[in-house]
Amino acid sequence: MNLKSNFLCKCGGLLYTDFKTNSEYCLNKNCENHKDIERIYNKKGDVEERFKRIKESLRLKSKLFSSNFINFLFDQQNYFFSKIYGGEGAPINGLLIICYIIFLVKDIKFVGRDSRPKSFMNFLRSQHEPLNNYLFYQDIKEENIILVDLPGRTNVPLKLKYLTEINKQKNNYGMISDIHSETNFRYDNIDLEKIDKKVFKIGMELDEYFIQFFPEMMKIDMLTKSNQEFSKLFERRGFTKYEVGALLSLFFSSPVLIDLSKIKKKEFIKTLKQMEFNDIQIENLFKFLIGDSDQIPLAIVTDEEIIYGKWTSLAMVMKYLGTLPERPLIVEGKRVASKVFEGKIRDILRTRGYLVPFNQEIQLHKDEDGYDVIAIDKTKKKINIIEAKYRDLPSSAFSALNLLNLKIYGKEFGEIEIAKKQISRKEQLEQNKDILEAKLSKEGIKIDLKEYDIVPYVVFKFSPILSQFEIVKLISFDDVSNINF
Ligand SMILES: [Zn+2]
Repeated sequence: MNLKSNFLCKCGGLLYTDFKTNSEYCLNKNCENHKDIERIYNKKGDVEERFKRIKESLRLKSKLFSSNFINFLFDQQNYFFSKIYGGEGAPINGLLIICYIIFLVKDIKFVGRDSRPKSFMNFLRSQHEPLNNYLFYQDIKEENIILVDLPGRTNVPLKLKYLTEINKQKNNYGMISDIHSETNFRYDNIDLEKIDKKVFKIGMELDEYFIQFFPEMMKIDMLTKSNQEFSKLFERRGFTKYEVGALLSLFFSSPVLIDLSKIKKKEFIKTLKQMEFNDIQIENLFKFLIGDSDQIPLAIVTDEEIIYGKWTSLAMVMKYLGTLPERPLIVEGKRVASKVFEGKIRDILRTRGYLVPFNQEIQLHKDEDGYDVIAIDKTKKKINIIEAKYRDLPSSAFSALNLLNLKIYGKEFGEIEIAKKQISRKEQLEQNKDILEAKLSKEGIKIDLKEYDIVPYVVFKFSPILSQFEIVKLISFDDVSNINF
């Protein structure tokens, strides 16, 4: 296979970078890029044990608080989610840490009497560092970061080189570790350009209103799947639009924005019955809110009342509506946005002087793959055929353990598969230049394409892992403005 990549080693393994020196390393022992790595630390063992103790001690200490502590945690979680909706983005780690503490203490019988918010806050601050380390450890577990010994230096973290591109995608959805990063909300305008802004009216179809929020849905979904261990917390199986509708009704029935809201359980059940929930659906809803033993609760459900955060509820509406088994709105929203994306590529190429004759995808024959963008260079006698991939990396590929399988070799997202399709498009066009000539002449353009070369490209939102596969060049959207086609 003839391929080029800035992120892969010559041997095909993933490249890692030393934070400090920017030197690149390969983990494959027989490879020359393995260089002077003296030892690779075993990811599990002691570390796992140590974190077990940290988690246990966190539970024991929390026990000495009054039961108000759990309300305090929900309150904090709500605050973090409100930040995400403030458009400014929320620090990912802070939010994940709160969620994880809720998960750790959710079934504790609190025996203490200390109810002072100040004690709670101090405790929370004291847990930030160990849990932040725990988050860092997730990156080690998933092999995005590898600890090694180099000559004269021990415990040196090597970072997966492709992690910078993965982080650009996360930043794009407002999952922010650097508030000033340029890639924050990078594609907001493309996502929403063709989607009508609608005002919510009672009795309206949920999807009709919520489609405009699909980037929010992506964001929350990605946030709650930041790493493999944490992604289990918010996982719910087999939910329906009833559960989502009930969450939405919690959101709307809350008069307060920032503080936690309460609703009497009886009253809530009455509302649900008005929304035509039957008894089984109500029972399922409570299971959904509370979650299984390895999941985080979405609200505090006691015998008398339900205590919840308005913003947390809205975030969860977004998450579950976006991935609703019956009709996932994220898929629909992206389909619309990908057309806008193609349009932007055409606009840029026109400004750069290429002849871009069509405003939509064209097909040479029915039932064949179409051509997203065609950009002709008359001076160089080239027909650039460009496939636009407005697709995000699925969060399961955020780990070095899955990255190659999904992003390079995968059937759906795999760059090789995508490039191969582009090769067959080139071959098709090679034999059917006359059809293209005819289509051009319909647009009033007369060109003899006989001597023209066909050059295949694929454009992704962010840098792909491969930069070339056989004759296909794989580039990022930014490259469209810069490279020589
Ligand atoms: Zn190598």
